[in-house]
Amino acid sequence: MKNKSAPIAPGGRIGILGGGQLGRMLTLAAAELGLTAHIYCPDADAPAMDVATGGTRAAYDDAEALARFADGVDVVTYEFENVPAETARILGEHAIVRPGVTALATAQDRIVEKTFLAAHGIPTAPFADVHDDASLAAALNAIGAPSILKTRRFGYDGKGQAKISAGGEAREAYASIGRAPAILEGFVPFAFEISVVVARGIDGATAAYDPVENVHTNHILDRTYAPAALDAALAGEARAIAAKIVAELDYVGVMGVEMFVLPEGVAGPRLLVNEIAPRVHNSGHWTQDACAVSQFEQHIRAICGWPLGSPARHSDAVMTNLIGIDVDDWRKLAAEPGACLHLYGKSEARAGRKMGHVNRLFPLGSRPVTAR
Ligand code: AMP
Repeated sequence: MKNKSAPIAPGGRIGILGGGQLGRMLTLAAAELGLTAHIYCPDADAPAMDVATGGTRAAYDDAEALARFADGVDVVTYEFENVPAETARILGEHAIVRPGVTALATAQDRIVEKTFLAAHGIPTAPFADVHDDASLAAALNAIGAPSILKTRRFGYDGKGQAKISAGGEAREAYASIGRAPAILEGFVPFAFEISVVVARGIDGATAAYDPVENVHTNHILDRTYAPAALDAALAGEARAIAAKIVAELDYVGVMGVEMFVLPEGVAGPRLLVNEIAPRVHNSGHWTQDACAVSQFEQHIRAICGWPLGSPARHSDAVMTNLIGIDVDDWRKLAAEPGACLHLYGKSEARAGRKMGHVNRLFPLGSRPVTAR
């Protein structure tokens, strides 16, 4: 095992669990700093492997392959939060794993996540644990309707969720998520959704990018507007919440913190945290072209023990995801003056699949009004 406090110098090797677009962009950022990446993932179609120095195609429960992979790198990180606990444990025996297992365990389970946030005084939607019909009835009694029933684990892009508008629908909602262990959350009448991408280094320093506004279509992130239209005090509060979360988790790396913004004039806090993602985040892709140091470089800097870069924004930006056949517009986008095009090299443009994104920059203070 390497010395945990020594920085990983140029020439060092980073192991990345997961071979998707986030791993690919992390690998490219590592290369810019003279570091190399080795990808570990079971998938045949792994865009990160195309740009990495090394690749291991093996299952996440292949203890021997995991040990070999971890022995061959200086630090292990990941691009998705559902890394099995046993996988993280094996990796941790052979290498430094950043972010660490506490962050993984916290972000993987919505009850653990919200309990952690509440314990640190960070506002969330009201929530209750659901594990059978009796606890569902008790949760509904406590929280009321409208509310949202979500699986505790493995939910993403609106999957594993069901809205409950009236009490009678609760059993159907529970059945629709397969009666999996769940959380019932009060429905938040938010004005809009924001996120903060924050980094924490091994020395405890934190750096938060400006809060951004996220617009979803069919539960998938469609556009990110940087910055979010928040007054300075609320923007500062959002950054402070994100910084507190990474500090409390003794976190190293980049995290995405998703929040709801309640309308002006409501009683109580105006920012509620919905979810934390212990990894680089889709809502941080705008930083590639609008900041001197992108979220990907920032994550590499953090996990390698380097000083964090400045999260300052030199331009406003709108990031648009290219989902499924949107990517067929690549010729038009390539010809658009000033459009910064990022394609992931995925072979098949299946519906709902993230194929690339485009960042459009605007002078500071002049980003277009959000189309919601
Ligand atoms: P999640 O999987 O928790 O990120 O939820 C996906 C989306 O569902 C969010 O981006 C919100 O638009 C919506 N949503 C989730 N939880 C709530 C809630 N408690 N109240 C209102 N909308 C929600």
